[in-house]
Amino acid sequence: MLLVAILSCAHITVAVSPLPATPTTPEPPPPLDAPAAPPRDTSPPVPDADDAARQWQRLAELCDGAGHRLAGSPGQGRAEQITAAWFDADGITVRLEPVKVPTWIRGEASLQLSAPYTQSLPVLALGGSVATPASGLEAPVVVIRDFAELGPAVKGKIVLYNVPMKPGVPSIDHYGDAVAYRGQGASRAAEHGAVAVLVRSVTTRSLGTIHTGGMWYAPGGAKIPAASVSTETADMLSRLAASGEVRLKLKMDPRHGPDSDAFNVVGELKGIDLAQEVVVIGAHLDSWDVGQGAHDDGAGVVHVVEAMRAMKARGVPRRTIRGVLFANEENGLRGGRAYFAAHGHERHVAALESDLGGGSPRGWGVTASPEQRAWIEPMLSASRLWVREGGGGADISPLTDDGVLSVGLIPDDEHYFDYHHTWADTVDKVDPMALAEGTIALTELTWALANAEAAPPKATAPSSP
Ligand SMILES: [Zn+2]
Repeated sequence: MLLVAILSCAHITVAVSPLPATPTTPEPPPPLDAPAAPPRDTSPPVPDADDAARQWQRLAELCDGAGHRLAGSPGQGRAEQITAAWFDADGITVRLEPVKVPTWIRGEASLQLSAPYTQSLPVLALGGSVATPASGLEAPVVVIRDFAELGPAVKGKIVLYNVPMKPGVPSIDHYGDAVAYRGQGASRAAEHGAVAVLVRSVTTRSLGTIHTGGMWYAPGGAKIPAASVSTETADMLSRLAASGEVRLKLKMDPRHGPDSDAFNVVGELKGIDLAQEVVVIGAHLDSWDVGQGAHDDGAGVVHVVEAMRAMKARGVPRRTIRGVLFANEENGLRGGRAYFAAHGHERHVAALESDLGGGSPRGWGVTASPEQRAWIEPMLSASRLWVREGGGGADISPLTDDGVLSVGLIPDDEHYFDYHHTWADTVDKVDPMALAEGTIALTELTWALANAEAAPPKATAPSSP
């Protein structure tokens, strides 16, 4: 995508303006005794190692101290207290804003191969799934590699969606295609009479790792159980199914509860002369209930808290800056929606989100009107990261949809989906220096936005693209 942009820009330049004249004589070399001009520094700033270690310690405190942070869980409450205490310790005004979040409790799950032979297989329920009957359900397996293959043949069967995620970076570009089977697969298969679905984990690398994640039932449709298996299990079952009947027994007992009380944790630096204008910088505090949610989105939480700390140390901004730790992204969008319900009427000039892990920053995804884009352009250029059209984040999407200039941080995500939504998303997977580089990138851009000259209005036409 970046390559295409560069090529098309080069083409336009050649077409409409003459190339700069080629010097006919080379520049003379500098005198031997003159110091050589220092090369222009185009590398991102290097974090202070001690500060990076301190930021990583905060991530460890969150991950180890709270436990998992699934919406409605006790860990979410502990995480609210830990992060509110950080804001407070850093001298930032903090408040807890109430959000009703969904409650889903995983319970136990087991998967048994019962033909052509008997063997236990690792499995994880998908978030939001209903339970099987208490004694489990047993059925033949049918392998599906595209929604178009669904039909009468899946009736009474367990559908195995074996659709690999494509490799290549940014990995996020390949996530959407594969994750559609996780999100919608159960309802799509239930329309044809399937009794359960298993979904190949959404990743390109696996050591037998199982990835959970959200799934949603179509309103009014049948609800069938949905679970995830490793890429290895999906491929093995597919090979077996190609040469004879494969039967599986799935048993799991997740349950839904009434909505729970949770909070968006909001830290605020009040502006001076443009205090009524707001710049939001956000991440989500909730996680899945396996692993520690260290990359997803503990790293983003630390980015936000640490950027607020760094900006507080610089003084008072012109605009108000709000660091928002959203309560519920993984299995709902209640945090982002509650924020918008409470604050959507205010004048937001920009919203930023960090929700792609703690890798070294690489680029920005920007959703903006032409006027907004022109305004932010010099600030993006100063960051020395690449920029592409489209982006933001799930939690800030209600603001994006309302025409607010939105920016998502895109870190190096080559390994993000190795860990994403697994037991392996633990704090040891996050590199302190890379984490701190992300903090610097967000700090610089947020500070620039909060202090820039007159901001353009919200986009009225649909934002790009
Ligand atoms: Zn996330």
